[in-house]
Amino acid sequence: MRLTRYFLPVLKETPAEAQIVSHRLMLRAGMIKQAAAGIYSWLPLGYKVLKNIETIVHEEQQRAGHIPMLMPTLQSADLWRESGRFDAYGPEMLRIKDRQDRDMLYGPTNEEMITDIFRSHVSSYKDLPLTLYHIQWKFRDEMRPRFGVMRGREFLMKDGYNFDLTKEDALHAYNRHLVSYLRTYERMGLQAIPMRADSGPIGGDDTHEFLVLAETGESEVFYDAEITDLKFGDREIDYDSREACQAVLEEFTSRYARTDETHDEAVFNEIPEERRRVARGIEVGQIFYFGTKYSEPMGAMVQTPEGGRVPVHMGSHGIGVSRLLGAIIEASHDDKGIIWPEGVTPFHVGIVNLKQGDAEADAACESLYRQITDLGLEPLYDDREERAGGKFATMDLIGLPWRITVGPRGLKNGVVELTSRRTGESEEMAPEAAVARIAGIYGKG
Ligand code: ATP
Ligand code: MG
Repeated sequence: MRLTRYFLPVLKETPAEAQIVSHRLMLRAGMIKQAAAGIYSWLPLGYKVLKNIETIVHEEQQRAGHIPMLMPTLQSADLWRESGRFDAYGPEMLRIKDRQDRDMLYGPTNEEMITDIFRSHVSSYKDLPLTLYHIQWKFRDEMRPRFGVMRGREFLMKDGYNFDLTKEDALHAYNRHLVSYLRTYERMGLQAIPMRADSGPIGGDDTHEFLVLAETGESEVFYDAEITDLKFGDREIDYDSREACQAVLEEFTSRYARTDETHDEAVFNEIPEERRRVARGIEVGQIFYFGTKYSEPMGAMVQTPEGGRVPVHMGSHGIGVSRLLGAIIEASHDDKGIIWPEGVTPFHVGIVNLKQGDAEADAACESLYRQITDLGLEPLYDDREERAGGKFATMDLIGLPWRITVGPRGLKNGVVELTSRRTGESEEMAPEAAVARIAGIYGKG
């Protein structure tokens, strides 16, 4: 993409309404625009990162054997009456009447709808296990929408639902989700710690929340410092293996890590004092096992191998896709702007032309642009007639992890400059060498 042809409405001023850094930076970098309280338009740069996050979520869900689909945002109230949640859910649920005076709602979650789909089409244990998921907009009429996309009213969520014959099978699904979530967040450059949590209005027995540590997080968390040493890394896990998934769960949940809802001071105090941490965190996901809570009242039954009929065991598993943009920025920025992890960056590398209009510099930039594009990567070429300082400030603000700077002086010596956004370190090298380095960083070498 050439910047002169893109739509990147960066703001010079720091928006007064934004209280936390991720919200400020998303507004300043031209990623979002508020449409109403807690409701945002995703401008091109923000939309690109949102899509990258979605892609990682899709890939990791499908790696775990979960099946993508798409349910609507608007739902009929009838299903929610069956489960008893139409009245129970409270004012966070946006209730709407259609022209026939029928009760509708903008889905805050989809347990009822997926259970209805299941009961309409599945009646035998032979069709289990089954995990269906979608990535769809939700609406919750939050009392205090704030912090930009972190606590929106309309927000994008991945929600997945497992259907299993037995509790043991459903707990395997739970563990499988835990493993896939660890991978998902690490690919986004995040450490998200599974913490024992409270089930809230979804209801359930077993539940973990995934929290990214950040001072601006809304949850108070208590944990054993040893847990932050754990990395999932690039291990290959057989998602069908109960033992393998169980082992990961045990490894990542064996140390104390809880939200304030489940915190137990006495147990916490058994941890050696130097390892006890009280901090704040951003909830970026949650997994639940809730057994037959919906399948029983809604009659989602299957035939057992012995010929009986039983309600299926279920769980639901959410990832806050749009909230993740805020969480990543909270975890990765400096006073100049965002620092995108390579896994989610909107463009792989920025190209800064120090002297637009200089025949040699222009040609060198065009050549870099072509070579990087040919690798299957996306460069953002700042081809504006603008002074170098302004170009650097924009690149730093929007946070591309790598920048190649091209100027007539360097070109005389046959070099361009490759700069890491994270460390600020620059290295001079031949243009081909810079392309090779970029290729290597993104696994295209
Ligand atoms: P919270 O406690 O933050 O209100 P929740 O526990 O009610 O969230 P879940 O039902 O677990 O939310 O939804 C799954 C995920 O969706 C959450 O882990 C979170 O990342 C995200 N999410 C929930 N509410 C919002 C919101 N208002 N804005 C953005 N993301 C949200
Ligand atoms: Mg939650």
